[in-house]
Amino acid sequence: MDDSIKLADAFGRRFPYLRLSVTDVCNFRCSYCLPDGYIKSGCEPFLSRTEIKRLVGAFADLGVKKIRLTGGEPTVRADFLDIAKDISLLTGIRKLAFTTNGYKLPEKAEAYLDSGLRHINISIDSLKPKQFEKITGHGRLNEILKGVELCLALGFDSVKINTVLLKHLNDQELDSFIEFVADKPISLRFIELMRTGGNHAYFNDHHLSGSAVTERLIQLGWSLKARGHDSGPALEFVHVKSLGSIGLIAPYSKDFCKTCNRLRVSSKGGLHLCLFGEGGFPLRPLLQSDEQREELKSMILKLMNFKKSGHFLHDGNSGATPHLASIGG
Ligand code: SAM
Ligand code: SF4
Repeated sequence: MDDSIKLADAFGRRFPYLRLSVTDVCNFRCSYCLPDGYIKSGCEPFLSRTEIKRLVGAFADLGVKKIRLTGGEPTVRADFLDIAKDISLLTGIRKLAFTTNGYKLPEKAEAYLDSGLRHINISIDSLKPKQFEKITGHGRLNEILKGVELCLALGFDSVKINTVLLKHLNDQELDSFIEFVADKPISLRFIELMRTGGNHAYFNDHHLSGSAVTERLIQLGWSLKARGHDSGPALEFVHVKSLGSIGLIAPYSKDFCKTCNRLRVSSKGGLHLCLFGEGGFPLRPLLQSDEQREELKSMILKLMNFKKSGHFLHDGNSGATPHLASIGG
């Protein structure tokens, strides 16, 4: 066990991984997330570059080793590359990742890598241009696929694809996605559609259990990979004839929360102990000067006692999150 990881909860889980949203703003309109596009709420600004540096520094002191920048669409922030550079230079942070919708990826991939972002997750919900446009509101599939190829050529440490499983919208494409990774060192992860405050009707129409994926993979001769010691809740499948792997993130499955290893901070500094919890605890007041670092760390350690053993999705309670763009998926 790694004793440098100081963040632990009452259920014996440890937290070496922080997902940090840097903005709620997004330039896409994914039908399950922001179907009407981004709508500004409140006038509080997003965390500044300095606040982010203080926040991540404190988490690194507490043993966090992996940071994922997310949003909204993190890359729309004008200072996104500077934020990444700052974090990549912090002692203790070994892995800097980000999740993006892939907007202008061919033009930007090299700059991401140069800023220390060595792990990229790109969201692609369909491999058919028209269907992609229908789901995301943007006809940019070909550009994003070119970006994926470029990321592979540039040598990112990992290139992953996130695909939300959507009944009637992309469930016919399971085999195409599986074939897509056959000749590429990519981990493609199917994510079960999650119910949020704003998508109840959509969820009822399009939620598909991850077991549809598992069954198909097993039928095609794929097998479940043994879990690594630092694996999160994703299940990973491999096949001798495929260079890529297929993952499954199924929050509605039994025991999903047992392997939780991550915390989240919203773009305005709210610490969220669970994606489906009730609001975030405001850390921003403790990000106003470097002298507050010890106080900030004590507060984060104290808050860990409030992390619950699991979510309440099965009771129809998806917490206070209106959509994942608001605290970063
Ligand atoms: N804008 C970036 C993107 O789309 O990759 C990063 C933020 S987005 C909220 C992060 C991930 O959450 C994306 O892969 C997205 O598809 C996924 N996501 C958003 N809403 C979701 C939902 N209701 N259920 C499951 N996944 C969702
Ligand atoms: Fe934007 Fe990502 Fe939400 Fe799509 S999933 S609307 S790209 S934040």
